[in-house]
Amino acid sequence: MREYSIAAIPADGIGPEVIDAGTTVLASLEKRMGDIKFNIETFDWGSDYYKRHGVMMPADGLETLKRFDAIYFGAVGAPDVPDHITLWGLRLPICQGFDQYANVRPTKILPGIKSPLANVGPGDLDWVIIRENSEGEYSGHGGRAHRGLPEEVGTEVAIFTRVGVTRIMRYAFKMAQSRPRKFLTVVTKSNAQRHGMVMWDEIAEEVSAEFPDVTWDKMLVDAMTVRMTLNPKSLDTIVATNLHADILSDLAGALAGSLGVAPTANIDPQRRFPSMFEPIHGSAFDITGKGIANPVATFWTAAQMLDHLGEHEASERLMRAVELVTAAGILTPDVGGTSTTKDVTAAVVDAIHSSN
Ligand code: ATP
Ligand code: MG
Repeated sequence: MREYSIAAIPADGIGPEVIDAGTTVLASLEKRMGDIKFNIETFDWGSDYYKRHGVMMPADGLETLKRFDAIYFGAVGAPDVPDHITLWGLRLPICQGFDQYANVRPTKILPGIKSPLANVGPGDLDWVIIRENSEGEYSGHGGRAHRGLPEEVGTEVAIFTRVGVTRIMRYAFKMAQSRPRKFLTVVTKSNAQRHGMVMWDEIAEEVSAEFPDVTWDKMLVDAMTVRMTLNPKSLDTIVATNLHADILSDLAGALAGSLGVAPTANIDPQRRFPSMFEPIHGSAFDITGKGIANPVATFWTAAQMLDHLGEHEASERLMRAVELVTAAGILTPDVGGTSTTKDVTAAVVDAIHSSN
């Protein structure tokens, strides 16, 4: 029996609803496989915890999480708690504390789900976006001078390091190498931003020499949005900075049908710490408690988690089950269906047991 300890942090809004669906599906996979076991411990950290304790998680939270094999995360954010508290109090400390520098966002159109793009269906769009997750535009450097005065200046400094860019580039080339097309697109804005972005281009050239079997090209981020929309088939693996990939992956999620199906993994490739798996969407308070949250992103990220743990067969079995269910039209309202979170979950559990 192979055992894995998983820390579940459902947190806010629809987070608990989709993580509950996810743990149900993991339990059924455990039964179907027979040789793996998930020891899931759930933590009640998040905005409600903040209202009781004044912090989003305990001071020794990271210490507690360290001993787990993986973290299964719901969503953070509440209408009555400021964003900088929810984000900086829980999700970002985990990403930064565990040096999860590679953010991996697979995107494809699942069978039965419609892309807003005309004439684009399953198979026409199959991407993995690799987002640099530790530095760049979101490094927090900058400031304000002469606040409120006519001569006020605000700066927002993007910091790129050779170590940081090289490690994400290497991760991206490896990812491209592991996929059938072995094709990588490196995104920058090096025509207008002539320092850090030019360094990205140079490091891409250097790292590419280590991967002679990977074909690659360069794109400027503005032109990239056009290519994603008009020529999605021409792309496969994509690497971009923290900000650029943030924007491109929202576009990717929308082109694939809904935020509710888009998963993401925050990976520490060196495996010194647990990696974290979550749906891309936020807490979505507008639908919280209605029982209609789409659990597909949370299932898909569980498949990413299983892959990371080396359980490839279980991961494939889970994704096959999800695709059978979406193909059968068992869908939540955000992707045009009338099913509930529970209906979709029950159908995936059935498919796990009945499919080969
Ligand atoms: P955040 O502030 O973290 O971005 P949010 O509450 O704005 O969170 P998002 O996740 O950004 O919510 O989603 C925007 C909208 O998309 C939601 O308000 C909701 O209507 C819809 N949505 C998001 N995720 C799902 C889901 N899993 N199932 C169904 N609808 C969803
Ligand atoms: Mg939002």
